[in-house]
Amino acid sequence: MDIDVMKKVPVSEQDPQVRATNFDEVNLGYTKDEAVLEASRCLTCKNARCVQGCPVSIDIPSFISRVKEGDVEGAYNVISLSSSLPAVCGRVCPQETQCEAQCVRGIKGEAVSIGRLERFVADTAKEMGIKPQLPADMVKKGKKVAIIGAGPSGLTCAGDLAKMGYDVTIFEALHKAGGVLVYGIPEFRLPKDKVVAKEVENIKALGVEIVTDCVIGRSLTIDDLFEQEGFSAVFIGSGAGLPRFMNIPGEQALGVFSANEYLTRSNLMGAFSPDSRTPIMRAKKAVIVGGGNVAMDAARTAKRLGSEVHVVYRRSEEELPARKEEVHHAKEEGIIFDLLTNPVEILTDENGWVKGCKCIRMELGEPDASGRRSPVPVEGSEFTIDCDAVIMSLGTSPNPLIKKTTSGLEVNKRGGIIVNEAEMTSRDGVFAGGDAVTGAATVILAMGAGKSAAKGIDEYLSK
Ligand SMILES: Cc1cc2nc3c(=O)[nH]c(=O)nc-3n(C[C@H](O)[C@H](O)[C@H](O)COP(=O)(O)OP(=O)(O)OC[C@H]3O[C@@H](n4cnc5c(N)ncnc54)[C@H](O)[C@@H]3O)c2cc1C
Ligand code: SF4
Repeated sequence: MDIDVMKKVPVSEQDPQVRATNFDEVNLGYTKDEAVLEASRCLTCKNARCVQGCPVSIDIPSFISRVKEGDVEGAYNVISLSSSLPAVCGRVCPQETQCEAQCVRGIKGEAVSIGRLERFVADTAKEMGIKPQLPADMVKKGKKVAIIGAGPSGLTCAGDLAKMGYDVTIFEALHKAGGVLVYGIPEFRLPKDKVVAKEVENIKALGVEIVTDCVIGRSLTIDDLFEQEGFSAVFIGSGAGLPRFMNIPGEQALGVFSANEYLTRSNLMGAFSPDSRTPIMRAKKAVIVGGGNVAMDAARTAKRLGSEVHVVYRRSEEELPARKEEVHHAKEEGIIFDLLTNPVEILTDENGWVKGCKCIRMELGEPDASGRRSPVPVEGSEFTIDCDAVIMSLGTSPNPLIKKTTSGLEVNKRGGIIVNEAEMTSRDGVFAGGDAVTGAATVILAMGAGKSAAKGIDEYLSK
């Protein structure tokens, strides 16, 4: 195959018309030949800027060189030194603002497709039965560490601590491990059995125990973990699963959902499948409020469940916080974007069900604290979108349960747990990271925090 070195080797995708009716993965990934060709675009820079853009500092030129040579096992071993979830990151990380944003190839042409290569390596290694290994010189420490939450931060912290020789137990509130990877991000972007469950198995294979259906703050408290269960340190990776609402009239109506609830029904409980016993609303016309990745996931899920879908967002396309690729895919699948528009009221029928979403047009004013131009309502521009479901995707905050049941645990005004540079909280021996600290962010930042906390815990317990 001839390639234009200035451009990425394209990747195959399911046809938009076809995929809008199924939950199979959209992006089909590189074949071996495509991966080797794309790897050959990498200049193996000595001071690789891409590595500086990676929150977990994967040695990118080194793994790509191995792909070039066809050495998938070698490439996987390089990635595994820094990342415990490469098949996940290769699919959902915003590479365009991280490693790929720094790639020198991107100065005159398109950056090397680092994410697709990472996914190729992780998927191929899995097919070949290659797994991450405990270091040969690992010595058991004889100390127990508890992890709260089996999302990317908790899984990463657990994997790193297990490799250091600690006995690690994860306590997870849900019946499946993975956090947002299992309950939030849809199957068509991140297959659950094929990808997430396999990555979780790899972490268990390092000796990590996962206790599911255990809510810390209800089943056990953090004090119980220290005093009754004999743990020497605790990591809180409980995420930010508490949805926000608009507080507009009609928001309590039947047919209004938080994106978290809607996506959890579909992803974790498999409600998209006709065989599932979990109900999900298959709306005729759904309005999705918000413009982030969560809104795109809710919109594309509703589309696949047969709805006509309108994304209502109060700023313009330029400010949409979702990844460009997600917006592009949503548009290809026929999702309608009502930009510079904001809901003001949910209209209901005589039985309390949603029958419409009253909106107002917006225009952009002066930049706000985030640097983005503030949306300002255009007086007298109200109009109604007839619909039978409204899905609120306005962001989430950390759940206050752990704060309420743990004395001396300080949080900021947004509910994020306060930590020092070693990720230790205001409670001695209690560490935290990921969305529980930062508020809703990204998989790779949560993983970076989990890694850094594992180091902090090791230093704390080695004193
Ligand atoms: C729909 C959606 C799409 C997203 N898409 C992307 C994307 O494309 N790319 C990207 O990088 N990021 C994306 N994100 C953000 C990303 O998934 C999160 O930033 C990341 O998962 C945070 O990891 P975490 O480990 O901090 O928390 P989580 O993934 O939220 O995991 C926390 C875990 O803790 C458990 N838990 C909570 N409280 C307790 C308790 N009291 N006791 C025991 N267990 C508890 C929860 O059940 C959960 O399993 C998306 C988020 C959502 C919601
Ligand atoms: S910056 Fe780009 S070209 Fe250089 S090593 Fe990284 S991926 Fe390769």
